[in-house]
Amino acid sequence: MAEQTDRIAFTFDAADEYRPEAPPPPEIPAWKDGSIRIGIHTSIAGDISGSLEIAHGLGANALQIFSCSPRMWDRGGMRIAETEATRFRARRKELGLGPLVIHDNYLINLASPNPVLRTRSVQAFHQELVRAIALGADYLVAHPGSGRESTPQAAVAAISQGLKQAARGLRLGDMKILLENTAGQGTSIGSRFEELRAIIDATPGLPLGICIDTAHTFAAGWDLRTTEGLEATLQALDRTVGLDKVYVIHMNDSKTHHGSRVDRHEHIGQGKIGLEAFGRILNHRLLAGRAFILETPIDKPGDDKRNVAALWKLLGREVVANGDGMKPRPKRSAAAAKKTKKARPAKKAAAKSKKKRKSKPKVRSRGK
Ligand SMILES: [Zn+2]
Ligand SMILES: [Zn+2]
Repeated sequence: MAEQTDRIAFTFDAADEYRPEAPPPPEIPAWKDGSIRIGIHTSIAGDISGSLEIAHGLGANALQIFSCSPRMWDRGGMRIAETEATRFRARRKELGLGPLVIHDNYLINLASPNPVLRTRSVQAFHQELVRAIALGADYLVAHPGSGRESTPQAAVAAISQGLKQAARGLRLGDMKILLENTAGQGTSIGSRFEELRAIIDATPGLPLGICIDTAHTFAAGWDLRTTEGLEATLQALDRTVGLDKVYVIHMNDSKTHHGSRVDRHEHIGQGKIGLEAFGRILNHRLLAGRAFILETPIDKPGDDKRNVAALWKLLGREVVANGDGMKPRPKRSAAAAKKTKKARPAKKAAAKSKKKRKSKPKVRSRGK
């Protein structure tokens, strides 16, 4: 018997060779269907999945959220339960919302020269990454940080090092970390596109990209009000970080004037940048395929809905009530609308208008 066992052990049959199964082809998320993506920052107060209903109800097809309180340090109690994360991912899929952008905590400063603050920032950013992965985020947007008394070069090195430390041991999958450009207030890094490029260059091992905020760009000295100004900005962006690295545009009008270096968001069309400029940004061929996310203030009820509708309108679409929420629908010409009305049998049309009256649009504000 022993002899036989030996023979089996030493006989090599190629057919028995273990072959790992081919990995499944990467699943392309449903939101990457080439359609234009308009999103808004929504509240997670109460229930994180509630943010999805709010965004959907406002007529957005993308969203941004905080994954924890944005002005509190993570003391380890900000984990997202697996059941909650599963529910969130499933509901997001149902609603076809994407991309999902998560904005990091405002207190995080990876460039801080204070060792205690820096360590705390690295730990908090690690937790940001953990929560973003759990929720299935596409992008985690981060403010680069503020170097205080250190030189911009030292700050860039500290940010890059901090990102690497925070991501250690994590599998980010397809998720990207997006560095957001800043207005240039104080010693904040990132108002110059060259600084963002320097961070990317210093961090080759991480999937870094860029998020461009219109209000910050304008306050940092780029004149987005004119066609020439927008062209010059896009060319500068392409020369420095590369437009292919820009995945998200934060769409905010600016309360402060051009070159003010002060970051104050305003409703679309009511600030110093102006409605026309937002139309050019949304429809610019070099920005096709980006997600456009609002971070506009809520001064009175309905502001969110109005800002989302304003962006759709600049794209030639209108937001109409759709029973369980607001959905963008292509704007039809008056002639086309008349034609459809005529063609529809009277009985059917009556039933439809009755149904339409019943389903009132749900409007919810961002809350706290
Ligand atoms: Zn922003
Ligand atoms: Zn801002």
